[in-house]
Amino acid sequence: MTLRNAARALITMLVVALSWTIGQATASAASPAATAAVVLTYDTEGAAEFVDAVHSGAKVWNDSVANVQLEPTAAGDEADIEILADDGWPRAQTTSLGNGTVWMGRQAVNEGYDTIRIAAHELGHILGLPDVKPGPCSSLMSGSSAGVDCTNPTPDAAERAAVEDNFTAAGNSPAYAYELRTYQD
Ligand SMILES: [Zn+2]
Repeated sequence: MTLRNAARALITMLVVALSWTIGQATASAASPAATAAVVLTYDTEGAAEFVDAVHSGAKVWNDSVANVQLEPTAAGDEADIEILADDGWPRAQTTSLGNGTVWMGRQAVNEGYDTIRIAAHELGHILGLPDVKPGPCSSLMSGSSAGVDCTNPTPDAAERAAVEDNFTAAGNSPAYAYELRTYQD
């Protein structure tokens, strides 16, 4: 190999190595965007005395999952999730995955059930989770079946994984077809 050919070979190797490095850097830079969370807004204007509990319940979800995040809506903006207070039993109605209404029913609160667990549980329905009853206090979706003394507002590993699946990294790609559903608890 002449000196000139050796130099040419060396330059070719360097160019290949540099291209590969740039390719890796581009791939790394693109990955945060691919895992961006779906943001759902919620409106507590009608939540009366339960505003703080709802914010706490939303924070539990935000700390528990990465693919979806719950944020208070700006004043005047239409929210994905309406939060209301009434004298009935707590419940939720979904119009589609991530959209619907939560009622923070005073009947359960007056019986002593924890308001943050209620908020997180009903938000769990909005995020696509069904009731799992009866169930232990470690399960969020066991709801009232875990007993009045259960104050755990945190979803268990299976519940977190199900919500992550419902809101995949690609964005709005629900894992299953979703229709109007009413959860009376
Ligand atoms: Zn329920």
